[in-house]
Amino acid sequence: MELPPMIPLLPLRGMTVFPHMVVHFDVGREKSVKALEAVMKGDRRILLAAQRDLRDDEPGIDQIYSVGTVAVIRQVLKISGDSIRVMAEGQERVRITGQVSDSPFLLATIEPFIPTKRRLSAVRGEALVRSAVELFNDYASIAPKMSDEVLFNVNSEKSPEALADTMAQNLAVSFEQQQEILEAGNAYSRLELLIGLITHEIDVLNIEREIQGKLRGQLSKNQRDYYLREQLKTIQEELNEGDETGGSVDDNDIDYYRQAIVKLEFAQDIEEKLMKETHRLAQMHFSSPEAAVIRTYLDTVLELPWRERTDDRLSIKAAERVLNTDHYGLDKVKERILEFLAVKQLAPELKGQILCLVGPPGVGKTSVGGSIARALNRKLSRISLGGVRDEADIRGHRKTYIGAMPGRVIQGVKQAGSGNCILLLDEIDKLGADYRGDPSAALLEVLDPEQNHAFRDHYLEIPFDLSDVLFIATANRADTIPRALLDRMEVIELTSYTDEEKLHIAKRHLLGKQMGRHGLDKTQFKVNDGLLRELIAGYTKESGVRQLERQLATLCRKAAKRIADGDVTAVKLTAADLPTLLGPRKYKPERLPGKNEVGVVNGLAWTSVGGELLEVEAGVVDGSGKVELTGNLGAVMKESARAALTYIRSRADSLSIAPDFYTKKDIHVHFPEGAVPKDGPSAGITAAVAMISALTGRAVRRDLAMTGEISLRGRVLPIGGLKEKTMAAYRAGVRTVISPADNESDLAEIDPTVRAALQFVTADHMDDVLRVALAGA
Ligand code: ADP
Repeated sequence: MELPPMIPLLPLRGMTVFPHMVVHFDVGREKSVKALEAVMKGDRRILLAAQRDLRDDEPGIDQIYSVGTVAVIRQVLKISGDSIRVMAEGQERVRITGQVSDSPFLLATIEPFIPTKRRLSAVRGEALVRSAVELFNDYASIAPKMSDEVLFNVNSEKSPEALADTMAQNLAVSFEQQQEILEAGNAYSRLELLIGLITHEIDVLNIEREIQGKLRGQLSKNQRDYYLREQLKTIQEELNEGDETGGSVDDNDIDYYRQAIVKLEFAQDIEEKLMKETHRLAQMHFSSPEAAVIRTYLDTVLELPWRERTDDRLSIKAAERVLNTDHYGLDKVKERILEFLAVKQLAPELKGQILCLVGPPGVGKTSVGGSIARALNRKLSRISLGGVRDEADIRGHRKTYIGAMPGRVIQGVKQAGSGNCILLLDEIDKLGADYRGDPSAALLEVLDPEQNHAFRDHYLEIPFDLSDVLFIATANRADTIPRALLDRMEVIELTSYTDEEKLHIAKRHLLGKQMGRHGLDKTQFKVNDGLLRELIAGYTKESGVRQLERQLATLCRKAAKRIADGDVTAVKLTAADLPTLLGPRKYKPERLPGKNEVGVVNGLAWTSVGGELLEVEAGVVDGSGKVELTGNLGAVMKESARAALTYIRSRADSLSIAPDFYTKKDIHVHFPEGAVPKDGPSAGITAAVAMISALTGRAVRRDLAMTGEISLRGRVLPIGGLKEKTMAAYRAGVRTVISPADNESDLAEIDPTVRAALQFVTADHMDDVLRVALAGA
């Protein structure tokens, strides 16, 4: 039966299920019960996958192993209380690719598990099967509780797949070990793992029996530790001996490695090194842990795209077409990218140009990266750098570490399978650094054209040429990117979308994409503009379109379900349907109160998620000249508020403020939303206006917002992020924006819709600001 694209997921505690195996387990957790109920109404198919931590009561998708088994529920039986006993039969091994929702139960997206190819001589395959069966029989003769049925199945089974699964399911080993077998790339790798495990189990069981025999009768409480230590020692001795005796690695395998190495035509020293590893492998027992390490190493090295390159599509026209079909608007961004590609085409020898797409979440940075790959006809691979603190994440661990792997860069290239792929370095601004080394230094080496033609990964130990790779980084803000990295990159800014742009993006791109994903065609699902507008205004609050896309996905899912249930043949939705489908409106339209107030001023802030309207309040009471600044402020913001105060003192006279106010009054300036940390100098003039208003009792215009740094003499100094800030002002319904005169050139960048809706006042000095800001002045 064909796999469904998404399926309810039931996380298993301490248990791994293999295809074609019948298993029993008890279910008590609410989500699991819900998942069961849901599938019992449908085709009874459910995804069973082990959770990583047994103690976790509500594991999220990332707490669950990514390989599981789709199973059919054969029987459910209510036992005590809320518990249900389930009998299920595994059907097919699958990979979990993501989650669609996590309530009322986990709904996961899956894809078939494609076995990895393995070159293996028929003889060796046969030998693996036979040794596994023999060992299993030995194991069964000493293991407690092995049923005859299992033994019969193992001895009559011919296909290596089914054999490996049957043995794995019935071996009394930890679920982690079983999971490792489930995840192994193909049946032969599974058999190898099994042979190692069973051999070990037999050894342990034998030694246990021996020790028990010896010690029985004289085992007192304080001898227990000794007993365990002896057990450990004997096991270790036994295992070490195993390495030197018995079957060594198959000659065919060694030949395969040798030929593959020669074929890749490495430089002489590299070839020698790889041959040396192969030689070491040839000396080893084929199931020893060291052999597995070297084998993995050689496989990894040989699988890298040393020579593979895709042909670039160099037509700028074609690239433009791809960019335009994938994305609405973004004209400036597209233009910059096309220029970049044109330079690439004219001067292909110019290497090491790196693009960095900067902008708030959900504005399309990652997907623009994908389009560039499509436009150039290159493979794409994505590396997430968010939270990476360890240098080894970038550069890999030496292979002597247990479970060592190459770093993310090499893994990315390997996954792309082409040496001139595009590597998308996601969230480069979230790179950390601590005692484990500085990942940005390692990344610098990756990006440096002088060095990256021979990049050294700790695991590979041999240099890999990254000079053909095209790197594209993404970040929310440019100012938190490590300076040295930023200097290497060409920054392209993407900014927030207006509601109008969001509407077009939803209509032309998101809706079609989500309908396709949910199997809906145009005759089955329709929404009107009114609904989209309401979604944008009432159900999302964001700079980009990510929530919007998610809400559209929810609508598609609900429609698909209704159609699949046979209730209707088509679903047509308008804004009026939203409360029933998505719940009540989540965001009220931002509207400024009509009344002008004393001491309350609209400031404009710029955060990593875009621009924001920030209301600043000032209050004045009789006192002794204390100044209080609250609202989780950083040092720069506090200093700038104090500078504003000094300016007011120096100009008290002309502002008609009693000159001794700073000895007779206490001033309190508060920046609301105290939980959000704020910093930066750009609220200087806002704080100044708030204080002046509070001191003079003159009200401030409510339909106005401002941004600007202040100097002690009252000059208004330039600030950053004007485009995002004006967008926020526009969203909030502000009419007039005061900005520094020195930012005048930025006004040209502002979105046309926003520009048309707002009146801009540029200010050189506080006098200009006050003239406009104070009501009735
Ligand atoms: P980011 O990487 O900036 O956080 P994404 O690339 O993940 O954002 O974009 C989120 C979603 O919005 C993607 O599905 C993307 O295709 C879509 N999207 C964003 N901007 C546009 C646009 N201008 N036109 C079409 N789709 C867009």
